[in-house]
Amino acid sequence: MRKSFFVLLLSLIGFNLFSQKTHIWCGTLIDGVSNEPKKNMTIVVEKNKIIAIENGFSKAGTNDKTIDLKTKTVTPGWIDCHVHLEGETSPTAYLDRFTLNPSDLAFNSVPLAEKTLMAGFTTVRDLGGSGVNISLRNAINKGQVKGPRILTSGKSIGTTGGHADPTNGYRKDLMGDPGPDVGVVNSEEDGKKAVRQRYKDGSDLIKITATGGVLSMAKSGQNPQFTEAEIKAIVETAQDYGFTVAAHAHGAEGMKRAIRAGVNSIEHGTLMDDETIELFKKYGTWYVPTITAGESVADSAKKAGYYPEIVAAKARVIGAQIKFTFAKAYKAGVKIAFGTDAGVFKHGQNWREFVYMIDSGMPAMEAIKAATLSAAELLGLKDQIGSIEVGKLADIVAVDGDPLKDSQVFAKIVFVMKDGLVYKQQASGF
Ligand SMILES: [Zn+2]
Repeated sequence: MRKSFFVLLLSLIGFNLFSQKTHIWCGTLIDGVSNEPKKNMTIVVEKNKIIAIENGFSKAGTNDKTIDLKTKTVTPGWIDCHVHLEGETSPTAYLDRFTLNPSDLAFNSVPLAEKTLMAGFTTVRDLGGSGVNISLRNAINKGQVKGPRILTSGKSIGTTGGHADPTNGYRKDLMGDPGPDVGVVNSEEDGKKAVRQRYKDGSDLIKITATGGVLSMAKSGQNPQFTEAEIKAIVETAQDYGFTVAAHAHGAEGMKRAIRAGVNSIEHGTLMDDETIELFKKYGTWYVPTITAGESVADSAKKAGYYPEIVAAKARVIGAQIKFTFAKAYKAGVKIAFGTDAGVFKHGQNWREFVYMIDSGMPAMEAIKAATLSAAELLGLKDQIGSIEVGKLADIVAVDGDPLKDSQVFAKIVFVMKDGLVYKQQASGF
């Protein structure tokens, strides 16, 4: 009698002794660890954690909830290691730099973050924007905006005239001489200051542009743009602050310098040669391919006037190359984490990367692992996300169909749970 009074009292003040569990019935479960999909399984979620994985469709208690995905394929939430949530491709993108304020970028990024989450990507690494991406991360963490869990580099770090110089292509009187605060560095000292500024800004990691890039208003898409000593100074300083370093690189020389200097991942990696592949393996560096970006820029470059000619010329040569580089790197045994460069193409289409990876020779199960456990390892979150295992955060998605047989199924996301909360549960078929 006294006990039940106590329970009643606790529930009246909002404390539930019998906290609600969610039983997710999975027709097929790809857990991110095993190479074999499992049939007829139940994932039990309590609050934001996976607390049990059971054979068969286990019955929920009266207080609990059941989600029926008996006809679906369930996987861990997908992770895209390379996105830009502050904007997306458009023929007016180069003019927008002169007309949009940071507050415009902030509002524009809201639906882009939501689209990404609804496409099944529960975690992303935002590799550079103006710095608005830091506020976006915070707003999502507070539950003010729907979006994926974000690890952001804030503003990328480049050299004067380099791929991450935000004033490239500007009229001379507008260019000025930007410095480490906005990520433009020209010495080891500048590099250290830029890293420390990013720590102060609230970044989660560091992004550098080790070579030229396709979309910047500059001639070369591949020249090395840092000395090895400059990259080393950045990497060593980053390590002091617990940051990993991601390096954008298309040309082989810049890639080699970055790998030897100790960066954690190479983004794009377009023109890697055999010697670079050996360095990847020797240093254990991750490769984040972004094939979708390559294919998309090569496509957009065919449309007259979509890009300035200086950009279109690079897009035609570099873009189309990435899928061949991916195939070569995969065969050679380079460690690969899933990343798309979404923003260079429309957000929400990140799933296309799966199709390109599979078409370029990677088995679908490995592509899923690249987007789950491998990506989590690169992000330093392997103990929290990337697989469906007891104790991990409840980031769980489902597709309608068998993604191991048909790569188009990756586009058919019917269920999204992030951190234990359901964001998408398509009515039909449930
Ligand atoms: Zn990028």
